[in-house]
Amino acid sequence: MNITIKDTVIIGSGPAGYTAAIYAARANMNPVMFTGMQPGGQLTTTTEVENFPGYPQGITGPEMMEDLQKQAERFGTVIHYEYITEVQMATEPGQLHRIVSSSGQEIQTRSIIISTGATAKYLGLEDETKYAGSGVSACATCDGFFYKGKPVAVVGGGDTAAEEATYLAKLCTQVYLLVRKHELKASKVMQERVFNTPNITVLFHHELIGLEGDKVVEKAHIINNQTQEKSELNVDGVFIAIGHKPNTELFQGKLDMDETGYLITKGKTTQTNLPGVFAAGDVQDNVYRQAITAAGTGCMAALDAERYVAEYF
Ligand code: FAD
Repeated sequence: MNITIKDTVIIGSGPAGYTAAIYAARANMNPVMFTGMQPGGQLTTTTEVENFPGYPQGITGPEMMEDLQKQAERFGTVIHYEYITEVQMATEPGQLHRIVSSSGQEIQTRSIIISTGATAKYLGLEDETKYAGSGVSACATCDGFFYKGKPVAVVGGGDTAAEEATYLAKLCTQVYLLVRKHELKASKVMQERVFNTPNITVLFHHELIGLEGDKVVEKAHIINNQTQEKSELNVDGVFIAIGHKPNTELFQGKLDMDETGYLITKGKTTQTNLPGVFAAGDVQDNVYRQAITAAGTGCMAALDAERYVAEYF
């Protein structure tokens, strides 16, 4: 097997990974990136991105990610369209890490930048896929604006759902919050905000069972899970807010994570609990989850990795 030693390997090709690649490449670290199964990351699944600075007319997600890829390649990033299957991380500063990719390629590296992102959870309804980007969203901050002046529904009963509902209530005429149980799981403060917002209607014991509309969502079909009574809501958008799953299976038992699996970084850095291993983007952020914040921490991770390599090798 051909084993090479690199300054840094970037795992993941979303905004965090590409920004880390641009910075690391310009710092002469000759970064190697593994794209994973979704080259370009989550933004390749959306149409308009209107909130990333620098694009006054907006840009589609796939186009933006293509721009980032070109910029990273311009400075010499080597991109492999494979995913990582195994990571052995050093425990002492100055030791090499070992990474194996899906084709069996093995790389030793002085530092690792983890930017494997997170995946929004969905209910598993066929209509969620059918209307993805055409009325179904998992991000109110990203897509709420498209529903300005229109009625929407939010699915979920936790803090995320409560936050999405109150955010959307400022833009939308009416927000229906569909809660499976008889109460909200959200914190007391968030619950109060929901109940004190006049244009949020909380529908306890209600579940989404289907969507209807000509190309875009026009109606949500719901069911009362106590009485089994079915009804419909006239809404233009449905926001699924039942949580996210960070892509951290590879690092389980190796890196410090919070109770929901997000990687933990130290203070204002991207440093994980192991030396030379840095984390950027949604994989370590269960709060902001935006392209710009992912890009920002990608920049930080490259700078942290560069300083680490300069100090210990
Ligand atoms: P991701 O974009 O999640 O990328 C993760 C990468 O890791 C992928 O390339 C994946 O293939 C790779 N990966 C995973 N496992 C492995 C592995 N084992 N080996 C190698 N690679 C691996 N944000 C905005 O700011 N504005 C918007 O308008 C907006 N709209 C959105 C619309 C939708 C439909 C969605 C889903 C999200 C949207 N977001 C938006 C959120 C934004 O996409 C994310 O915050 C951002 O993509 C996070 O970037 P990331 O680099 O951390 O990870």
